[in-house]
Amino acid sequence: MRPRLVRGRPELSLYVCGVTPYDSGHMGHAFTFCTFDVLVRFIEASGVRVRYVQNITDVDDPLFERARRDGVGWRELADSEMESFIHDMSLLGWRRPDVMPAVSRHIRPILDAAKRLNAGGYGYQTDALYFDASRYRGYGRLSHRTRRSMVRKLRDERLLGQVGPGAKQDELDFPLWRGSAADEPAWPSPFGPGRPGWHIECSAMAMKYLGEQIDIHGGGRDLVFSHHESERAQSECLTGKVPFARAWMHTGLVRYEGRKMSKSLGNLVLVSQALERAPAAAVRLYLASHGYRRDWSFEWSGLAKMARLVERIRVLLEGEVRGAGAPRPGVVVAGAGPGARRGTAGGGLPGPFAAALANDLDTPSAIRELRAALRARDRYAVRSMLSVLAGTASLS
Ligand SMILES: [Zn+2]
Repeated sequence: MRPRLVRGRPELSLYVCGVTPYDSGHMGHAFTFCTFDVLVRFIEASGVRVRYVQNITDVDDPLFERARRDGVGWRELADSEMESFIHDMSLLGWRRPDVMPAVSRHIRPILDAAKRLNAGGYGYQTDALYFDASRYRGYGRLSHRTRRSMVRKLRDERLLGQVGPGAKQDELDFPLWRGSAADEPAWPSPFGPGRPGWHIECSAMAMKYLGEQIDIHGGGRDLVFSHHESERAQSECLTGKVPFARAWMHTGLVRYEGRKMSKSLGNLVLVSQALERAPAAAVRLYLASHGYRRDWSFEWSGLAKMARLVERIRVLLEGEVRGAGAPRPGVVVAGAGPGARRGTAGGGLPGPFAAALANDLDTPSAIRELRAALRARDRYAVRSMLSVLAGTASLS
């Protein structure tokens, strides 16, 4: 993928679907966002800037349902959940995205996109304004799903809705704009007061901040259908430009005790719980020890193993800090301190480590290189590898 030049510097654009702020602090989410943090840091270490946008889905059914159940305001719930999500991710040492747009503050561009799709003949209005999925040839190709499997997934996820006269005309159509329940937020529009559909939110915010075509679009694998399939369809219909995203990158699901980690099943491991038992850098390395595409199971023993690795690294690097005559007891941070300077500029990464990450972000192999550098007591290599794999997460 060739980066564009922006003000004379090479730059790639990255849009990652962010959290719906109602149960955002578990290891499944951390896996997704730490994976993209490794990607961003790796690309930037090679001298290409990444313009990174990660949205906040604060206008969405699951958030409203949770707020209703808990008897709190949706905005209050969203704000407090976002605060704790950003707190967790900061402890995990991420490079914060350049922009984190919230849907509730971008209604105008989202509504504009819905209006333009409708004016272009891609929408129709019954009980809501729907996108006519049959107008996009290739709906289903991103997720490699047949019509039957798409309908089944919509039904399983309770996204199918009503089909028939006065509702949507086809099972695969999806709302661009819809009415709000009495306790949900509503904004005025030519289609009646209401709120946007889920998919158009991301299309409009991605385009607002990154342009009509983006380089890399990411998210958890459970978003491939229906979210990204629909986002791609409506975005390409909106602009006539193909592709909307040059590459799609999806992270695997994290299981715990044999099942997908989810609040409804009650089998969550929270980031805060993991951080009680291990340094943040160990959590990062434990996440990175799983290839991003795979589903995997969280095991406390795996995290403990990484904590032992991080302790050995800390001892090596603390020796370096003392040796440099700048003792700083307490916190040692992965991507900072003496020896980090060569690792942060372009091209400073050890060759086999960079080759592993260049190979479809093979983080398990990158960790093997980190272990080899540790055995060789190569502080510079350890420091520069950590700055990519663990960001600025603490080693202690
Ligand atoms: Zn999205």
